[in-house]
Amino acid sequence: MKLTVVGTGYVGLVSGVCFAELGHEVTGVDKLSDKIDTLNKGEVPIYEPDLHSLMVRNQERGRLRFTTDLRQAVQGADVVIIAVGTPSLPNGEANLSYIQSAAEEIGQALERYTVIVTKSTVPVGTNARVAGWVREHTDVPFDVASVPEFLREGSAVKDTMNPDRIVIGTNSTAAAELLDQLHRPLTGKIIHTDINSAEMIKYASNAFLATKISFINEIANICEKVGANVEEVAIGMGLDQRIGSSFLKAGIGYGGSCFPKDTQALIQIAGNVEYDFKLLQSVVEVNRLQRRNVIDKLHASLGGLRGRTIGIWGLSFKPGTDDVRDAPAFEIIQWLLQEGALVRVYDPIAQNNFRRTFSQLDVVAVRWCDDQWEAADDCDALCLLTEWETFVQADLSRMESIMRGKVLVDGRNAYRIEDVAATQLQYYSVGRAVQGQLNVIAAQ
Ligand code: NAD
Repeated sequence: MKLTVVGTGYVGLVSGVCFAELGHEVTGVDKLSDKIDTLNKGEVPIYEPDLHSLMVRNQERGRLRFTTDLRQAVQGADVVIIAVGTPSLPNGEANLSYIQSAAEEIGQALERYTVIVTKSTVPVGTNARVAGWVREHTDVPFDVASVPEFLREGSAVKDTMNPDRIVIGTNSTAAAELLDQLHRPLTGKIIHTDINSAEMIKYASNAFLATKISFINEIANICEKVGANVEEVAIGMGLDQRIGSSFLKAGIGYGGSCFPKDTQALIQIAGNVEYDFKLLQSVVEVNRLQRRNVIDKLHASLGGLRGRTIGIWGLSFKPGTDDVRDAPAFEIIQWLLQEGALVRVYDPIAQNNFRRTFSQLDVVAVRWCDDQWEAADDCDALCLLTEWETFVQADLSRMESIMRGKVLVDGRNAYRIEDVAATQLQYYSVGRAVQGQLNVIAAQ
């Protein structure tokens, strides 16, 4: 098939590359000419494992090209996929302005029957609006469909090639058949629904995963007080097939470009129909407070933070990606600076992106380090915020010997209690109080 993907970000680029790999002829369109130049040079503007080689291979095969010319890219396409951003508005609602302008431009360009697919995460009712925005600009026949995206950054290629399921929401039999044919090589688990349900499946899935994270984080906070170990609790819970073991890892809460904005958007979607989504509001609140636990643990161990040097290991919202959108690290560093701490930061992949995105942090109190040991050197406390492998495998005795203080705040439960217990580090992890307090107690 001839496919055009509008938006070459994390979702659009990965989808386009994977569809080209399946043998389709794909054109990726973006408004950002710098991004298109980079892609046309065979370079990938984001960090995503396996993406570069797959992209270059399909460019060389002539199946994948990139352009800023939406009109030309849409003419002749069988399927046009919208994968532009839907960031939050100040009230939490999804900003649909990128969707609207993409839909209008597609409408102006259509020359023959085309299936227009929305892959972006959009509130219920948006595809109907997309149809309206396209219709304002054309008399050519078209159908719309919602095919929400479930990939995870850091394993986006693998997830796209091996999805748990594909959801196709459309009211048109012709579009349903075409999209079934397009996705069938990826999985047998294709669910056909009406458009509204497809749109809701995406939000409900992300809200449920966020709920699991906030739930286990609250259990972890209680574990710290009652002397239980949240990791053992999570294993014991997860073996129950009705619960499942995924998304039961306690830590400093979720971040990234999806869960924070999608939970807020669903609260708004509910609010717009006068439904007060109390459970999800609590999930969001718990997540906000969980980040604050890092600061509370620093206070518990160091007292005031003014003039203290705090090392930060990890800036991206999770390992395997350079995406720093709504990364907990930003808020935590801001709080540290507000309290007068000096901060040394290091991330193996996301550092440049973080520094560019949060340029307001380019202040004397922040030192951007060249490696993890420079960030740990002479610190009063070290905080692990992203569990990159290089941090997880770090030599704890080296850490202990180069730090001035001995406080290690592990926001991701990256270290084994037994390994830390063999050092003099004062170790604070999440929900593992009994063992975690050993060295703190010993030091008192
Ligand atoms: P992104 O910000 O990385 O990429 C969006 C791209 O669209 C940008 O490059 C932008 O320049 C381009 N764009 C905007 N308007 C355009 C237009 N009119 N014409 C051409 N290009 C245009 O966003 P993303 O992370 O890829 O997310 C896209 C959508 O997918 C969002 O709705 C998001 O919620 C959803 N989603 C994201 C993920 C993820 O992990 N990132 C996963 C599932 C779903």
